[in-house]
Amino acid sequence: MTFEYAPAPESRAIVDIKSKYGHFIDGKFLPGKKHFPTINPATEEVLSQISLGGASDVDKAVAAAQKAYTKTWSKLSGKERGKYLYRIARILQERAREFAVLETLDNGKPIRETRDIDIPLVAAHFFYHAGWADKLDYAGLGKSPAPHGVAGQIIPWNFPLLMLAWKVAPALATGNTVVLKPAETTSLTALLFAEVCQQAELPDGVVNIVTGDGSTGAAIVNHPGIHKIAFTGSTDVGKKIARAIAGTNKKATLELGGKGANIVFDDAPIDETVEGIVNGIFFNQGHVCCAGSRLILQESIADELIEKLKIRMSKIRIGDPLDKNTDLGAINSREQLSKIQELATAGDAEGAERWSPACTLSAKGFWFAPTIFTGVTQAHRIAREEIFGPVLSVLTFRTPQEAIEKANNTPFGLSAGVWSEKGSRILWATQQLRAGVIWANTFNKFDPASPFGGYKESGWGREGGKHGLAAYLKEGK
Ligand code: ADP
Repeated sequence: MTFEYAPAPESRAIVDIKSKYGHFIDGKFLPGKKHFPTINPATEEVLSQISLGGASDVDKAVAAAQKAYTKTWSKLSGKERGKYLYRIARILQERAREFAVLETLDNGKPIRETRDIDIPLVAAHFFYHAGWADKLDYAGLGKSPAPHGVAGQIIPWNFPLLMLAWKVAPALATGNTVVLKPAETTSLTALLFAEVCQQAELPDGVVNIVTGDGSTGAAIVNHPGIHKIAFTGSTDVGKKIARAIAGTNKKATLELGGKGANIVFDDAPIDETVEGIVNGIFFNQGHVCCAGSRLILQESIADELIEKLKIRMSKIRIGDPLDKNTDLGAINSREQLSKIQELATAGDAEGAERWSPACTLSAKGFWFAPTIFTGVTQAHRIAREEIFGPVLSVLTFRTPQEAIEKANNTPFGLSAGVWSEKGSRILWATQQLRAGVIWANTFNKFDPASPFGGYKESGWGREGGKHGLAAYLKEGK
């Protein structure tokens, strides 16, 4: 006998969403001129109006960041900077539920993930980097490492507040000031973070947030007062940024797309592996640059594993992201849903076999059922292009060498996973894989101490850990 889950909705009463937002510049909210709506992708309800930042807003933000850098932030000791980061981390923990609910409303991801993964990791990033602020001179980061000055930071919509933390925490710990632009569909938690900066009494201008679209991002990238750029987003925009800064002195880290291979050998523990595959591709609706979106299965166990995977997928609960029992939430935007639909249709047309569990999708909002494609070949678009949705492409192999060749046959190189009971096989495989992050017998595990980044078209540089700090520093005098 199975029991039905009763609805367990998280209350949204804890959040106070204003009808309209401006930009956060020099410690104050300044009204914007033009606005665009931000919606709840699960219901299409308009949540608020967000300002579309133009060149003059970016100018003001860069001037405020430069003033704060020269007059205040670069004069503080690492120990003093660290105190502000600790304070921000503690406030984020105190207001964790408010941030989790707001992120779920604006992004569509389940509350279970914002509450248990996104927001705790956000606080962890600030705590971790707070601890570094006064140790930079003794960490092998060069002689008297010095900040660059004003960092321009552009982030995507898949982990809105977490990407902000990945960018802001190391920049502040190393003594830089920032101008950050959230993604157009998910600005609300960044704007709430601005309130946290006020609450922590962070000196004015150290963090500035300008909202807007790609043109606002381009204005930041091209601004002569920006010394370092940190970008996470698509490979296409990453290439544009690389072109825009070529020949300038601007430093950049680019964290771009991926098409992660998840390799399963015949001796892998099958039930744990099925859990890892589900976590690898269906976590965060598959809106994850390091998702395990290509499952590369040893042929001898393929049938058994796929059968178990289908049984497990039938248990995935899809629906109201604010319900605490929901596993798979809404797709972030209509535009992203169309991209997923287009690639899935290409998978059908190219001859792969599509399967999804029976599930009811709401007519309102943006939804896509968890999906696997079997019989995928390396030539198929769904094996080569990033889908950025809950869609898994399954390929098979006979020899370990073939698995590695298939895994590395991609323009990307962000993540990979290896499942095997044998340590020697894991070590052998991980040494052959061309990916920046490789998990063994697990997937999608993140820690602020661990550097993250890719090879090839997945980007430049590393974020997190000591390597991530180095990107915000130059050799001092
Ligand atoms: P995605 O495909 O994940 O939406 P994008 O690369 O389009 O990724 O967006 C990531 C971030 O880059 C967003 O904040 C977006 O507004 C910004 N962006 C888009 N175009 C540009 C551009 N030409 N220059 C700088 N930033 C941009």
